[in-house]
Amino acid sequence: MKKSATRRPLIAGNWKMHATRAESVALIDGIKAAAAGARDREVVVAPPYTALETVARAIADTAIGLAGQNLHWESKGAFTGEIAGEMLKDVGCTYVIVGHSERRLFFSETNETVRQKIAAALRAGLKPIVCIGETLREREGDNTLPVIERQVRDGLAEFGRDVVRGLAIAYEPVWAIGTGQTATPEQAQEVHAAIRALLRELAGDSGGEAVRILYGGSVKADNIDSLIAQPDIDGALVGGASLDAAAFARIIAFR
Ligand code: PEP
Repeated sequence: MKKSATRRPLIAGNWKMHATRAESVALIDGIKAAAAGARDREVVVAPPYTALETVARAIADTAIGLAGQNLHWESKGAFTGEIAGEMLKDVGCTYVIVGHSERRLFFSETNETVRQKIAAALRAGLKPIVCIGETLREREGDNTLPVIERQVRDGLAEFGRDVVRGLAIAYEPVWAIGTGQTATPEQAQEVHAAIRALLRELAGDSGGEAVRILYGGSVKADNIDSLIAQPDIDGALVGGASLDAAAFARIIAFR
């Protein structure tokens, strides 16, 4: 099947807990030129909170978007150490990553908190990049598609078609994150197609077709082209390789 021309590819770099402000400036300076030459695709970076304002200033004259890596489900309150969507918006974010597998694994996030955080992001005017993905044990137990279906149905429960069509979903098999073991393009496409079918059910045919489904999990300069050639892979959420300006520049320049 051919890729839909209506979905503008999105390449997002998740810097995780890396980069001081000075390191962030050096990194974003190395990415700017590559992003400038790529009008038919969208580029977003997600620095740590402490570098958001610095990076926002550095990209002010570019088309690069800014994302938070997480947010709290409330707008304000006694939640020591947490950050609200409104605060991300205030500092210049347009996107926020929700439900990354590291949040699920180390900070007990669930499909229910993901749902609350999507609602909080929308309230704040942020576009959520919603992460889903199966563990190695789930894949080996032949449970990949049921797990993905639960994550999609529970995470997106109660949102209307208009909300769902505006989301970006990142399919990130947990066994592929930071391991150097990428899903093959065929493995990824199989899951992306299943996600697309679910999204069509939830948001109607045109809504489901509009959603960008990113792949994440050891995306590198040398595997991005074959991944993004798949009909339902509309971009990438990149961890490790997004910390290397040259590697991320090549990923942005996928062909
Ligand atoms: C991620 O953290 O979202 C990710 C995909 O990491 P990596 O590219 O390092 O596997």
